[in-house]
Amino acid sequence: MTVTTSLLDAVTVDEGQGRAIPDAATRETIGYAPVHSVADLDAAIAAARAAQPAWNALGHAERSRILHAIADDLEANAEELAVLLSREQGKPLDGPNARFEVGACAVWTRVPADTELEPEVVFEDGPARAEIHYDALGVVGAIGPWNWPMMIAVWQIAPSLRMGNTVVVKPSEYTPLSVLALVEIYNRHLPAGVLTAISGDREVGAAIAAHPDLDKIMFTGSTATGRRIVEASAHNLARLTLELGGNDAGIVLPGTDVAAIAENLFWGCFINTGQTCAALKRLYVHDSVYDEVVDTLAGMAAQMPMGRGLDAGNVLGPLQNEKQFDIVRDLVDDARARGARIVTGGSAAPELGPLFYRATVVADIEDGARLVDEEQFGPAIPVIRYTDLDDAVARANASEQGLGASVWSADVDAAVEVAKRLQAGTVWINGHGGLNPVVPFGGIKASGYGMEFGVQGLKAVAAPKVISR
Ligand code: NAD
Repeated sequence: MTVTTSLLDAVTVDEGQGRAIPDAATRETIGYAPVHSVADLDAAIAAARAAQPAWNALGHAERSRILHAIADDLEANAEELAVLLSREQGKPLDGPNARFEVGACAVWTRVPADTELEPEVVFEDGPARAEIHYDALGVVGAIGPWNWPMMIAVWQIAPSLRMGNTVVVKPSEYTPLSVLALVEIYNRHLPAGVLTAISGDREVGAAIAAHPDLDKIMFTGSTATGRRIVEASAHNLARLTLELGGNDAGIVLPGTDVAAIAENLFWGCFINTGQTCAALKRLYVHDSVYDEVVDTLAGMAAQMPMGRGLDAGNVLGPLQNEKQFDIVRDLVDDARARGARIVTGGSAAPELGPLFYRATVVADIEDGARLVDEEQFGPAIPVIRYTDLDDAVARANASEQGLGASVWSADVDAAVEVAKRLQAGTVWINGHGGLNPVVPFGGIKASGYGMEFGVQGLKAVAAPKVISR
């Protein structure tokens, strides 16, 4: 495949001027990301503050027109964006991966542009009437992770811009080039100052969280960092949307047609090589279908092509960074040491590259094992046997996190009854992790608060104002 580099050239700085960014699969340097300072952040926020009134004054129709023009441009540059994303993040071009993510960026740019947020009448009695109007908040700070870097940046940026806010976005230090390229395209269509990417490290993230001149922080990342952001917001009282970690449970009910759910079940666990916030991370399976589920998942895991993202046909890639590789390896090693059965995988795949870990299915494992209790964020799924549904529900709910969950059954009504008992922001039936730009998404418990997408997502980046007469 030919690698075109004009967007990469536009965002990379000279060697020695920035941080070397490796190709996730080969570890060869693909470019150098600028390392912005807190002073750069201050300047970006000042520019965003100055640009906000005029951006707001353009009105919804014009801002929506601009967002559609951006989406057109994203689509026109989709292959180049996908190649850069694939190299930097590691996810293959094929499958529900890099091309899919870039396509989602265009969709999630268009849908907020077309979503109406009209004033709501909340009280009416004769001439008396109270309405809620939704205004721009001002300047939004957006901080993102490395797993779906472009798409999550769009989730934060597009609704904010749509509502008349300006935005300063900080990508993860592991995947800055993808987000800088995305912002490069956005900025072909936006007035100066409306959107700035600040490519800094964790200190710059902390400075965003504590900044006195931000009105809202959109944060997606780990629960530990989310807690620090909440502390920082005690000082600036910035409103927060926190999309944090998850340890999503799935429950497979007795009588399930395993062949019918196999494809969804596999990708529920292994999408983006498991590096997905709302992926299946613990699977509770009824004794009557346990062996069939384990064997089916293991058979698929063993056969799915894994390798360098640019090579056609691969659908699983490497862990994005060494820290995540170590976490996955340690959790699987711990499971093995406790006597769990490694049905497939369970080891690195150095012949593919330094950070590849084979798709792994672990059976005969219980709650209390680290692989069950902690977020693995990688290609290793623990499958836990249950006989009593109440017990499975209790174990699924025992986690401190509550992002997603799923119930799998041929009887959808029965599955919905179980879904009502699960503690999660979203419960899917016979699927896991599917997102829709008009359906709100967000976590509960230690998975954060606030919702993204749809009308709720627009409200989250707006200032409600009651007009009472
Ligand atoms: P992380 O918390 O380590 O980093 C996320 C971002 O926060 C990075 O840009 C980082 O530079 C910045 N940061 C670090 N310290 C900061 C501080 N003190 N103040 C402000 N910003 C700071 O998370 P990660 O390792 O990049 O992402 C993986 C985690 O994100 C997983 O737990 C995953 O489940 C979660 N995640 C959640 C969602 C969701 O929608 N709920 C989506 C993707 C990832």
